[in-house]
Order: sequence, then structure tokens, then C-alpha cells
Amino acid sequence: MPLDRKEKGVRVRNINGTSIKTCQCASWLDHWRKFSGRAIPAYCAEMLCTNPAEIGAHVQKDTDSDPNWYVIPLCSAHGAKIGESISLLGTVVLVPTKICEHPGPQHP
Ligand SMILES: [Zn+2]
Ligand SMILES: [Zn+2]
Repeated sequence: MPLDRKEKGVRVRNINGTSIKTCQCASWLDHWRKFSGRAIPAYCAEMLCTNPAEIGAHVQKDTDSDPNWYVIPLCSAHGAKIGESISLLGTVVLVPTKICEHPGPQHP
């Protein structure tokens, strides 16, 4: 069942990365801001959510072909939904966790 990802936005799976030690950035939200080149968005990255973006959440793309971990800005409610798939706004920038030159954690 092919999804039109452009229309539906990007689907990602929320993974439990909040306990992971940050890289060299002050926080994962700061990591996102640094490497996305954008300001912290006013709203959560989830398609329909209007809560403020509060945390840098770890997600994986909903596909087997990309094992990388990404950081996106989410509200605390969506950030707490570990293991769930969420649809993101098409405009959301996914910043790889590994992008820092000297990352602290080694991800699988
Ligand atoms: Zn970083
Ligand atoms: Zn949200």
C-alpha cells in the first residue's frame, strides 16, 4: 500500500531517545536548531498539533531503508508517545543525531 508521502507528510516512529546523553549541544532541541538552521518552531512538528514545541525528540523514519536517528521538535505530549508512529508536517526538518562532529552517544 504505497503512501503518497508528499501529501501525507513524513511518517516517523518515536523512539526512546530522551535519556540519551546529548552530543556537544546544550540539548537535543538546541542540536536541532543548530543544524536545521531554523528557529525553534512555535508548534510541535506533528501534523495537527498546536502545542508548543518543547523537546528535541528522537525518531526514525518509518522505513526499513534508513536506520538513522533523527531529531525533531515536538511538544512534551507527543515526545512522550514512545513507539508510536506520527505524521509530521511536510516542512519539518529532520536533523540526524550523528551530525555533530564528536557525538557523545553511539547509536545502533
Ligand atoms: Zn549536537
Ligand atoms: Zn504535539
